[in-house]
Amino acid sequence: LRILGIETSCDETAAAVVERDADGRSKVLSDVVLSQLDEHSAYGGVVPEIAARAHVEALDTLIDEALQRAGVSVRDVDAIAVTSGPGLIGGLLVGLMTGKAIAKAAGKPLYAVNHLEGHALTARLTDGLSFPYLMLLVSGGHTQLILVRGIGQYERWGTTIDDALGEAFDKTAKLLGLPYPGGPQVEEAAKKGNPDRFDFPRPLVGEKRLDFSFSGLKTAVRQTAADIAPLTEQDVADVCASFQRAISRTLKDRIGRGLQRFSAEFPHLDEEPALVVAGGVAANLEVRATLQALCDKYAFRFIAPPLRLCTDNAVMIAWAGLERMATGVAPDDLDVQPRSRWPLDSNAEALISYGK
Ligand code: ATP
Ligand code: MG
Ligand code: FE
Repeated sequence: LRILGIETSCDETAAAVVERDADGRSKVLSDVVLSQLDEHSAYGGVVPEIAARAHVEALDTLIDEALQRAGVSVRDVDAIAVTSGPGLIGGLLVGLMTGKAIAKAAGKPLYAVNHLEGHALTARLTDGLSFPYLMLLVSGGHTQLILVRGIGQYERWGTTIDDALGEAFDKTAKLLGLPYPGGPQVEEAAKKGNPDRFDFPRPLVGEKRLDFSFSGLKTAVRQTAADIAPLTEQDVADVCASFQRAISRTLKDRIGRGLQRFSAEFPHLDEEPALVVAGGVAANLEVRATLQALCDKYAFRFIAPPLRLCTDNAVMIAWAGLERMATGVAPDDLDVQPRSRWPLDSNAEALISYGK
């Protein structure tokens, strides 16, 4: 099976070709990503209209490049997989219309892929992981703990009731006058800071349900910054270090409970249970160390796919399409519509009123 993947849900335009041969060996034939970071950084965040226009400009050449690098033409792929939600509607439309046009013109089946499913299944491509496993997605738009039972079988165990974790990093950076995207800036500044100087809140810690909340943390940072203004470089470093400490403590509690719940639900797995992390915040070394320590404590394997595949890319979309096709899931109709909101699991619909 050979699949062309297309991703345009946020600020990355991406195309890729992924293949699995008869012996079950998988291979990434090409992986092209164009980040729009420069276009958005002046505005301190992703501007939807700019993103959609940039996708329009780049996507066709990017798809050509992905096919060329893979050494195949559209005739040689078995299906087109394209992200059709969740995300910014303009970008989704660009990708989905392009995917439909190619599928129609080349007479290939189309798989409309949930972006989150792409993140969720990546570890099966990179690490050959078998079901079930736990996945923590921490990006600029999502903070979710998901039980991955099988293809098309996902249970959302926890989600943020306000800001995403990456968003909390970005907003904290902005409050401190650091440039966008703030995650790497906060991490860098924190290296020289004192994590014990400020005692920031750790929302929902100790609660039984596995949700997250980060907006109170951001408010505490704003308050602190106002209290000690004007901030010296050392102050900024101390705030960043204390912020990261609060995040670590929060993750330790929330994810620790998740691991225990997983072990209780699946006491007799053939292999050691696994926790997969995905999303841009997975680049953060303190976050990684926290998750690694938790996995050591509860005897889980900790799996962090290479960063390029943790952040937004089209390999994961092609792969999700491939997995669906391989398990005999029917392709989507060409009148499938993009969905700006699209929870992975069916029982998440009820929760959506208070979280994303
Ligand atoms: P989506 O949420 O739709 O999957 P996104 O573009 O918001 O997409 P990613 O590209 O996966 O998400 O990740 C970007 C986020 O990761 C930003 O919020 C950024 O600040 C954060 N981030 C990147 N590097 C680090 C780091 N070293 N520490 C903390 N956060 C980081
Ligand atoms: Mg991104
Ligand atoms: Fe993503």
